Amino acid sequence: MVSESQVYRSTRCAEAQSKSFEDAVIQGLASDGGLFVPSAIPDVSKDTLFNKWSKLSFQELAYEIMRLYIDGSEIPDADLKSLIERSYSTFRAEDVTPLVKNVTGKDENLHVLELFHGPTYAFKDVALQFVGNLFEYFLQRINKNLPTEKRKTLTVVGATSGDTGSAAIYGLRGKKDVSVFILYPTGRISPIQEEQMTTVEDENVQTLSVAGTFDNCQDIVKAIFGDKDFNSRHNVGAVNSINWARILAQMTYYFYSYFRATDGKEGKVKFVVPSGNFGDILAGYFAKKMGLPVEKLVIATNENDILDRFLKSGTYERSANVLSTHSPAMDILISSNFERLLWYLARENLADKDDLKAGAIVNQWFVELKTEGKFVVDKSIIDGALKDFSSERVSNEETIQTIKEIYDISENPKKYVLDPHTAVGVCATKRLIKSDNDKDIQYISLSTAHPAKFADAVNQALNGFEGYSFEKDVLPAELKKLSTLHKKIRLVEKADVTLVKNAIEEELAKMQL
Ligand SMILES: *Cc1c(COP(=O)(O)O)cnc(C)c1O
Repeated sequence: MVSESQVYRSTRCAEAQSKSFEDAVIQGLASDGGLFVPSAIPDVSKDTLFNKWSKLSFQELAYEIMRLYIDGSEIPDADLKSLIERSYSTFRAEDVTPLVKNVTGKDENLHVLELFHGPTYAFKDVALQFVGNLFEYFLQRINKNLPTEKRKTLTVVGATSGDTGSAAIYGLRGKKDVSVFILYPTGRISPIQEEQMTTVEDENVQTLSVAGTFDNCQDIVKAIFGDKDFNSRHNVGAVNSINWARILAQMTYYFYSYFRATDGKEGKVKFVVPSGNFGDILAGYFAKKMGLPVEKLVIATNENDILDRFLKSGTYERSANVLSTHSPAMDILISSNFERLLWYLARENLADKDDLKAGAIVNQWFVELKTEGKFVVDKSIIDGALKDFSSERVSNEETIQTIKEIYDISENPKKYVLDPHTAVGVCATKRLIKSDNDKDIQYISLSTAHPAKFADAVNQALNGFEGYSFEKDVLPAELKKLSTLHKKIRLVEKADVTLVKNAIEEELAKMQL
């Protein structure tokens, strides 16, 4: 029998409707605008956690976790294992996501969880390497017995301000029956970001450099998604951070790093997570609810601080403008995945814990957010959130200061260089270590990107240090080499939907999927 944790509902749905894992992944967003959530979170016993799971490899652990959320009739055991193996074979670290304990040599409880050993040097690889394989797997199955002209193909279209497009491209490169088009604003992304995206030779990948801003690119993508005719011809899909499979894939490193930090035993652990769209830390929430005894999940925001304000005030309010910070992947107005947490909080707050009533409440909140730019929740909801979460806001100045400080105090020869996103988390962690003043707590600070990807902020922080060299100390050879490779870019001379649609259709015709 399919268990409740393998059945998915929309966070805004007030009617009895459920979806399979495959539907939730392929569809991405629910038709009522909500996000898919498993209607139950599976329980994992302490015995299983500390006598079995603590001894597993990253891949074995990923399998045990995913198996709980995907019914065996949808993906048989052997297939799921093979999907996981292939997804993490592209990582440079044997551990996939290694935990660097006592990162400075001076703070015994401060550990950095390096999530950036995938192909694009960013944490999004952990999820997108898996999602790409999953898309291919489902499409291959649908197409197995169909004649060529009836095959279902998926055209993934996305916009990037620079740092996240490459993870989508590397997740989907070379996959059968899938093509990927990533729009970015011409001249407004860093050379390394452009090189990462445009040097991928696979036939099914095309970057579109659009003369305009990131907002223009995003508007074009939205218009394409809303274009029924274009959609029915090309089956347009997304791989953005609301896809359930991404959250699922990210759960593994919470369990895995916990066991590394505590030597496989139960202990006091806090996770500190640099947050934007709330996808990363939400995976930690599932891990905690499944039974991993985590003290707190700490949301670290930059100056785009809607989550920090919400936890302190109970008002979820969109700012007028997004601020441009040193941690651009966290520059958001609203945190799309936060809606999932709100659904669980709303349900927990109801006497009868009813799924559908929770959906109606969340729907009402998001109607208010749309019409009034904000909504206010009861104190009981915030109290519920504070059982699992706390939050810290970190300024631009503190971000740079933290990169400096960690470099300065970490012991030679291992001078540790933080990327600015990671620095937001480490700054928050340092604050907590001070205020908690409890030597028994292990702090796992999530590192979401390799510092080479954000040269400007890193150099601003470190150029003053004698002997520091970005080329020598930070830039990996593999990224350095990219500048010598051939670039495959199609320029779109105006930020115009029709021009972009034409470009996609022309390139699709050449791809012959
Ligand atoms: C996407 C991203 C984040 C934020 O993660 P969310 O899941 O959106 O909270 C943080 N750092 C980097 C480098 C990222 O790419």
